[in-house]
Amino acid sequence: MNNKKHQLPRDVYGSDEHKMFKETIEQFVQNHVSPHREKWEEQGYCDREAWLKAGELGLLGIDLDPKYGGMGLDFTFSAMLIEEQARAGEFAPAISMHSDIVIPYIARYGSEDLKMKYLPKCVSGEAIGSLAMTEPGTGSDVQAITTYAEDKGDHYILNGSKTFITIGYTSDFTIVACKTSKNIGAKGVSLLVVDADSEGFSKGKPFKKLGLKTSDTCELFFEDVKVPKGNLLGEEGRGFVYMMTELPRERMTIALSAIGAMRCALEKTVEYTQQRTAFKQPICGFQNTQFKMAEVATKLEVTTAFVDRCTALQAEHKLTPELASMAKYYASDTQCEIIDECLQLFGGYGYIWEYPIARLYGDARVQRIYGGTNEIMKVLIARSIFSDYFKHLKEAKKQLKTRMTVA
Ligand SMILES: Cc1cc2nc3c(=O)[nH]c(=O)nc-3n(C[C@H](O)[C@H](O)[C@H](O)COP(=O)(O)OP(=O)(O)OC[C@H]3O[C@@H](n4cnc5c(N)ncnc54)[C@H](O)[C@@H]3O)c2cc1C
Repeated sequence: MNNKKHQLPRDVYGSDEHKMFKETIEQFVQNHVSPHREKWEEQGYCDREAWLKAGELGLLGIDLDPKYGGMGLDFTFSAMLIEEQARAGEFAPAISMHSDIVIPYIARYGSEDLKMKYLPKCVSGEAIGSLAMTEPGTGSDVQAITTYAEDKGDHYILNGSKTFITIGYTSDFTIVACKTSKNIGAKGVSLLVVDADSEGFSKGKPFKKLGLKTSDTCELFFEDVKVPKGNLLGEEGRGFVYMMTELPRERMTIALSAIGAMRCALEKTVEYTQQRTAFKQPICGFQNTQFKMAEVATKLEVTTAFVDRCTALQAEHKLTPELASMAKYYASDTQCEIIDECLQLFGGYGYIWEYPIARLYGDARVQRIYGGTNEIMKVLIARSIFSDYFKHLKEAKKQLKTRMTVA
């Protein structure tokens, strides 16, 4: 009944390799993820076996250099994996956090020794990584972090805490954003790779969340943790610049999972509204249902076209931070709107957790919050629109500061 004539062709995933890859993803989710969902939801984290299986099937570090065990494919394959996993209504294992966020930091900024130590194990699933920027006292304002790494010659002593860290509980190492110099704002931020078994490093229990229940999110605590100097990513004081460089890719992962989740919601709702009856006719027989689903399908196709364009640009390393921010904010806002409309058409069953639409609803809400809130996305987009004004403002503030210092 659903002939999908309303869908545009997806050129970005058009090759035979993509088609084969899609089958691998579907089999992975069907055989090694969905059967364990209930258990993972109860315990609040995903089992290691799923990570190892993902590694065995070549699903981790897809675009990493084969020298370190990767497949050397382009970003469109990572994009397809993120989207298809979400389309199956699954989040765990949080492959995009590990493969699209953590691995690129090490691959791009790590020393050869660090790359050889971590990357092959990241690809096999033996070592899982997380990224810790947010602190209890600051999230959006990253440069205000207070976790501090004191220089002790050949090592640092790390003190502080982080919160809301995706797969923080299950990860074997964490990239920690910290200050290596105090009182110079963003210029004092550095990134350290910290092993989970380091003395003084402890973790909170997985938080009980509104959604994404199969994947853990937790607090991390650092109390006099000794971190070798060799675990510094890139240069001291460049951490903020590295994060700003890598965040567009993180934002794309959110936009892509939004597309997958919306597609899942659309498919589940089309199926349900054709089966469920009220007033002696299927729910899809009401004009309200037809109009709502027409709106949902249209908004999904429009958003997909923009996200596909951004995916192609990211694969060519040409995606600008502004476009990535637009993709993240628009796709996640649309995801929340669409899934809410779909859930309404399920009536009371839409509120029951065992129905996929309820889980999609719970999972969607955080997409507008993490990876930089959608308000921060608008701040970034507006800054690029009014770049002349902001340049002028910065210059005026600098001059005022100089005048005050002289006076
Ligand atoms: C499930 C989950 C997983 C996460 N995973 C990770 C992770 O793996 N690693 C990590 O480091 N962090 C992670 N986070 C943290 C997430 O990135 C932060 O929650 C987010 O950046 C917002 O920070 P905050 O919670 O401190 O909110 P705040 O910064 O306190 O913001 C509160 C509100 O104020 C608004 N606001 C703030 N500044 C401005 C401004 N300038 N203009 C307008 N409005 C503003 C925000 O938009 C928001 O609505 C995760 C969070 C969750 C919930």
